[in-house]
Amino acid sequence: METEAKSDAKVGAETTARPETTARPETTARPETTGGLHPTLQADSLIDLYRRTLAVWGEQAQYDQSIEECAELSVALLHYRRAKGSRQAVIDEMADVILMMGQLRWMFGPQEVDLAVERKRAKLERLLRKTTGSDTSEDV
Ligand SMILES: [Mg+2]
Repeated sequence: METEAKSDAKVGAETTARPETTARPETTARPETTGGLHPTLQADSLIDLYRRTLAVWGEQAQYDQSIEECAELSVALLHYRRAKGSRQAVIDEMADVILMMGQLRWMFGPQEVDLAVERKRAKLERLLRKTTGSDTSEDV
């Protein structure tokens, strides 16, 4: 994960310019534990890391960093698919994305995120059953 100091000033400016009407989740309650995600992302040390990262660089920087890491993973996968990139590069970018998803999950609220993940998991399960013909329900 590469959070650069140069983005700090830029982020600060963007934060002050944010319109009041921007629809985004209120993040007033940030839990002390992350709940049921991967054990790596539940570690108390990571919660502390998320908290300190947010305090130092701010909310906008976490969004920006998440976008950047997702883009880097996209590029790594494209290169890997074309045999221009290494498996390790993909794994490294996955690690960055996983950490940023842990940060965002904590910021947005693990319970809500986990509920959404469960909804998506169940939907995928239904779609898979329907696609493979092992389910006759129409509620996908
Ligand atoms: Mg990266």
